[in-house]
Amino acid sequence: MKEILPLAIEGSELSKPIIISGPCSAETREQVLETARRLVYAGVKIFRAGIWKPRTKPGGFEGVGEQGLPWLNEVKEITGMKTATEVATPNHVELAIKAGVDLLWIGARTTANPFAMQEIADSIAVLKPDITVLVKNPINPDIELWIGALQRLYNAGIRHLGVIHRGFSTYGLQTYRNHPQWRIPLELRIRYPQLPIICDPSHIGGKRELIATLSQQALDMGLDGLIIESHYNPDTAWSDAAQQVTPENLEVILNNLVYRTTPIPEENLTSLRQQIDQLDNDLLDILAKRMNISREIGKYKHSHNIPIVQSGRFSDIMSSRITAAKNLGMSEEFMRTVFSAIHEESVRMQLTLDNEPHP
Ligand code: PEP
Ligand code: MN
Repeated sequence: MKEILPLAIEGSELSKPIIISGPCSAETREQVLETARRLVYAGVKIFRAGIWKPRTKPGGFEGVGEQGLPWLNEVKEITGMKTATEVATPNHVELAIKAGVDLLWIGARTTANPFAMQEIADSIAVLKPDITVLVKNPINPDIELWIGALQRLYNAGIRHLGVIHRGFSTYGLQTYRNHPQWRIPLELRIRYPQLPIICDPSHIGGKRELIATLSQQALDMGLDGLIIESHYNPDTAWSDAAQQVTPENLEVILNNLVYRTTPIPEENLTSLRQQIDQLDNDLLDILAKRMNISREIGKYKHSHNIPIVQSGRFSDIMSSRITAAKNLGMSEEFMRTVFSAIHEESVRMQLTLDNEPHP
């Protein structure tokens, strides 16, 4: 994907940061137009609205469908905003493009499906290959699947490509609806530096209270824009009510964001990086020591026929480390990730001992 072109609408390149906002779903003509009118005051130039909604379970609101497309056209006429919607089938592509939608995005569930992606890519290539297409990450944290979806579009001749980072599914109750796993979009940035990355704090957080913080984090990491769900009356929204904000609230969020354009002086950065390098070396050293001790414990268990995993011990480690970490200003979630990984590796190592002959 050497020739990815900047995001553009009708030949004009979109200026950064790219801000897209609008309701999760188009519900009624009034809701679409009223939300759009108020978003204009927040400075939004691209209006999003889901016309077809992929729902996890049947029985939920699956979008108003085709009848909502003329409402998007009215948004264009009345407010001058450009429009964006999600497409999941060649039929959606055809209807959206014929209705004059300016930008298409591929939803997280569709990105994960290579057959659907190929069909969508082929139909966009026939109907409007120069349209901008944004590809949401697949719901599972699989960067290759994400890249594969992009390649299908690219190979079909679509060049104005970008991605939307909307977080990744996790099991059980979490702080986030979809875990951000920032290292995945950052790896994508390293592999495809020219590919614009837009963050979707609404679907990552799942709660409107998290949008401002997540948006700032995204900008601090150098991402290129934000797509934020907004609704004229969020609590009554037919889908994703908890994560939508009013257009006025969006304006406050956007105005409070810090766009870091002044680079940190190079000499400060060098000294900070040297400190990080040193600390990372110390960390590696400590980790290696811990693993060696763990290996000794493994040998002991092995020779005394003691099972490797003692769940009581692991929960004690977790809770004491989390308490200590919190006192040091680190989050519970971060500690859980770190200690689960360390514990997993210790167990893996002790298991390999089990495959060795008894002493
Ligand atoms: C959406 O943008 O409303 C949506 C359905 O998002 P995702 O595909 O990220 O779940
Ligand atoms: Mn939504």
